[in-house]
Amino acid sequence: MSTEASVSGAWEGRLLRDEDLGVRSSGEGLAWRARVEALFHEQRKRWPALAHGLDALSHVLVREVSLGSATFLLQYNPLRLTSTTAAVDEEALRRRPCFLCPENLPAEERGLAYAREYVILCNPSPILERHLTIVHQEHIPQALRGRCEVLLDLAAELSPDFFLLYNGPRCGASAPDHLHFQAARRARLPIARNFADRQLVVSEPGLTISRIVSYPIPTLLYHATDRERLSARISETLLILADLTDASEEPMLNLIVFADTASPEGRDHHQAWTVLLFPRARHRPSCFFAEEPERLLISPAALDLAGIVVIPIREHFERVTARDLHRIFSEVALPVETFERLVERVRARRNFTQI
Ligand SMILES: [Zn+2]
Repeated sequence: MSTEASVSGAWEGRLLRDEDLGVRSSGEGLAWRARVEALFHEQRKRWPALAHGLDALSHVLVREVSLGSATFLLQYNPLRLTSTTAAVDEEALRRRPCFLCPENLPAEERGLAYAREYVILCNPSPILERHLTIVHQEHIPQALRGRCEVLLDLAAELSPDFFLLYNGPRCGASAPDHLHFQAARRARLPIARNFADRQLVVSEPGLTISRIVSYPIPTLLYHATDRERLSARISETLLILADLTDASEEPMLNLIVFADTASPEGRDHHQAWTVLLFPRARHRPSCFFAEEPERLLISPAALDLAGIVVIPIREHFERVTARDLHRIFSEVALPVETFERLVERVRARRNFTQI
């Protein structure tokens, strides 16, 4: 609970408690969603840049592009320009003040303490409704290792309305030096329409792993009711992927996580998680670096791969075609042959003892 969380000194004065927000702690299942609603309500009044971002979201231009049986949504969103073009090389990161550290946040920005180490903040440049950034209280590097269970827990706390996402430090995170996740309303996430068309890879008690068929991006789909097993299998996949791609650090990937309440065979209700894992080969496609008129300012991260392609330049938004998107995804996603090897090794479930 927010009032019980330990808080590093720098965040003091930034955190709102239930009593500040007028949220009553009764009804455990509703508590975090109620807090998030109250946070947005409070921050919209207090923080003009957030109010501007929320108003801008209601006016973004959207158009559909079909890629085979999948429909992608292009979103023209000029407020994303800074994030799309963020310089993420080490030198640039050293020189800029970190925009997720409390001393550099806008004066009006406030958040909710979560799970002792995290703070939930409203994203002032939203792509979807109720777009949140969940930041670690310390300035520590973006890394998934040891953090899976926090993602699963928060997905469960915010279920069923929200999803969470994780962008790897070399494939979409605009602050790879400061650990953070994002969350938003999941109602309009296009990839969710493609789950039915899948091929089973692993089936064991409390967990299945499938691959999504006829989706233009190689994707693994985990369904699980067993939180520890799910977390262990994701960690195992990361190790296989690191081996296949010669990654000395975390392999390149984006994750989408959400939860629902399941009631198998009429037994007690419990949580069921869905995780989408997009293995990556590159951060940005060649068109990002091209000169005009070939340039397309698209820098794919989890949301783009899940079907909402964010484009901050209007002319690029109008010009991009299905063929462009196919080329972009083929450049940034794991090559199909490597994905096949990943699937085979996940199926074979080599015994990795280290996570
Ligand atoms: Zn920081």
